[in-house]
Amino acid sequence: MIVSDRRFACPGLYRIVPSLDGGICRIKLPRGRLNAAQARALAGLADRFGHPEIEATNRANVQIRGVRAGSEDAVIEGLTAAGLAPGSSSADDVRNVMVSPLCGLDPDAPLDVGDLADRVLTRLENEPRYHALSPKFSVQIDGGETVAMAAHPNDIWFSAIDGETFAFGFAGVPGEKPAGAVAAGDAERALFALLDLFVAEIGKTNAKGEKVTRMRHLLVGRRAEAMAAALPCPVRAASDWRREEPMALGHIGARRQVDGRFALGAVPPLGRIPTRMLLDLAELATDVAGGEIRMTPWQSVLLPNIDEDALANTAARLEELGFITRPDRTLAATVTCAGGAGCRSGLTDTKADALALAAEIDGWGTPIFGIHVTGCSKSCAAPRPAPFTLLGLKPGRYDLFAAAESTGGDGPMAGFGERVGRDLTIEQAARLLMPRLPMQREKA
Ligand code: SF4
Repeated sequence: MIVSDRRFACPGLYRIVPSLDGGICRIKLPRGRLNAAQARALAGLADRFGHPEIEATNRANVQIRGVRAGSEDAVIEGLTAAGLAPGSSSADDVRNVMVSPLCGLDPDAPLDVGDLADRVLTRLENEPRYHALSPKFSVQIDGGETVAMAAHPNDIWFSAIDGETFAFGFAGVPGEKPAGAVAAGDAERALFALLDLFVAEIGKTNAKGEKVTRMRHLLVGRRAEAMAAALPCPVRAASDWRREEPMALGHIGARRQVDGRFALGAVPPLGRIPTRMLLDLAELATDVAGGEIRMTPWQSVLLPNIDEDALANTAARLEELGFITRPDRTLAATVTCAGGAGCRSGLTDTKADALALAAEIDGWGTPIFGIHVTGCSKSCAAPRPAPFTLLGLKPGRYDLFAAAESTGGDGPMAGFGERVGRDLTIEQAARLLMPRLPMQREKA
């Protein structure tokens, strides 16, 4: 029997949440992985019951939008048959264990954290006490890969310092204010001790009067180091440790693997993969990547294990399908939320405006990377300020913010950086962005 879940407002596999353009079904993928058969099943379900495309999310998951009322059970059944559902409906929300898409492949990573991530995911799914975690509660396990997401905060992060030690911290990104470090062999025990500590506090009120649902609530009035010191394993100080900066735009294009083969990252414009494109991607993955597709937190895909002599042809085929495999266009690193076409809070058509903006900028011959077009100040598509944010005001009009010039502040608007233009058309915003190109180059 299909059990629909109504505990939270966040979409899930069993919780198909109504939106302006129909239901949203979010499918959480263990370690962001999808096989070709599952991709075909997703395409079939999207074609039959929703919009004929899937969306890549910024947590390396996928979602089907536009699910028609009355077809929810058929979608859930189809996803379950494709092996995309967890063992039980109550385990769906906790499947938030983030790893690099290059996990296990990167020759420069000190640790392959794949097995650890799998064990953590299995325990989260199978031990009911963890099902009380919020659907947004997430854990990042970072092997120190050159391609890593360092912009999305997680409730708990573990990051390899070297082949034998993990630093860890809370409510941030790997390397940000480490609370301590543990031996790699103690990481699982330490992580679950922290989860147990957190689970015991869920629903209580912190010193600020907030209900504890996320790790940041638990940190109010507590020192992270004190929490670390209570762990049932040796913990050493790591406050001076900083993670090496991940490679800029490293998720796009070819990366050599530890075994000499290649992984190839490709971006579907604005994270949307029409079902025809998805079917062709599944075929390509079968031909060159053993049928494996890895989703990334940059709303893109990565095909692993490609032989060197197949690399150029694979990139060409991806480009033919509509993916971007070189950082030579503004759309390679532009993100948007659903905007007014799919969300009741959306004040602008973010997707159409982002396409127009990218075309305008690329007309000058030099792309700009790191643009975020948002339909309202909730900023669903970018958990942290992007270099440039266009905040929707009314159809076709935006305020423009530049994070690099931020003067700080704590309001939602100040969170995007400094406002550098008001009530702009897309053309005006593009013109205002043009003089900022040198600044962006310096940062790259
Ligand atoms: S940022 Fe606003 S408009 Fe965009 S999806 Fe979120 S709530 Fe909707």
